[in-house]
Amino acid sequence: MRAGAWSVGFVLAAIALPPCAGAKGGSHDGGRTRVIYEAPKKTSYREIYDAMRERRVLERVGGIIGLVRLPTRLTYRLKECAGELNAWYAPETHSVTVCYELIDSIVKAAPRTRSPAGVTRQEAIRGPVFQILLHESSHALFDLLGVPILGREEDAADQVAALILLHLSPADARMVVSGSAYFFATQAKDEPVDQGAFSDVHGLSWQRFYNLACLAYGSDKRRFRDLLVKDYLPKERAEGCEEEYGQVAFAFAKLIVPHLRVRPKAGERLRRLFRSAFR
Ligand SMILES: [Zn+2]
Repeated sequence: MRAGAWSVGFVLAAIALPPCAGAKGGSHDGGRTRVIYEAPKKTSYREIYDAMRERRVLERVGGIIGLVRLPTRLTYRLKECAGELNAWYAPETHSVTVCYELIDSIVKAAPRTRSPAGVTRQEAIRGPVFQILLHESSHALFDLLGVPILGREEDAADQVAALILLHLSPADARMVVSGSAYFFATQAKDEPVDQGAFSDVHGLSWQRFYNLACLAYGSDKRRFRDLLVKDYLPKERAEGCEEEYGQVAFAFAKLIVPHLRVRPKAGERLRRLFRSAFR
């Protein structure tokens, strides 16, 4: 189904985060991050353009990354990519680019109202959009801060994105976890498990699904208990999730937190910090 088949209001409501109390539409970047919404030539992308701009999606992610003292300004750009379904960070221009084509594919993959697993259309669209932007932002942080990386950079970017999103408000965190898990599971269905998949720099979609589920569960076993109860996370993996989350949180505290403009002492303050920036 084409994105254009959905009404403007529907797509708008789906991409947008719920308005937060106290959000005055002021700038979060203060010159630290810059956002560019390139108007699309393809008319069916117009709804995405309007929705992303109206809801200040790039500004919100930039607001979080702007909490980090960056040596140079980071640019976020939404643009048409000649048919390429992609998003990336470019170190040479210090910019994160997300393609209309990728967002359009997310909109098309979303359930009409609710998936059999209970993921709403809104979650299925908002979740991966924010996960992707936070993932690319993590590449930017690694590059701009010279963060040493053990293991694969793609896994590290997923982990940092997960850590940040799990510190948003409980409702936003739930939305991104559910929506991203839905997206990974959907992608996994079309993913050939062959030499190309194994040699790729990214993990397989099912691996990214379980890694995210594990970090969510490890961050708060009560809040994400349903992942275990509903069998989205095998018991064997779940046993080590608290430790997995602890590893990521420890690395984040050592490598990223010293660069924050405000030094949080504990996870709860980090939570408050990210939450307030995301509004
Ligand atoms: Zn990546």
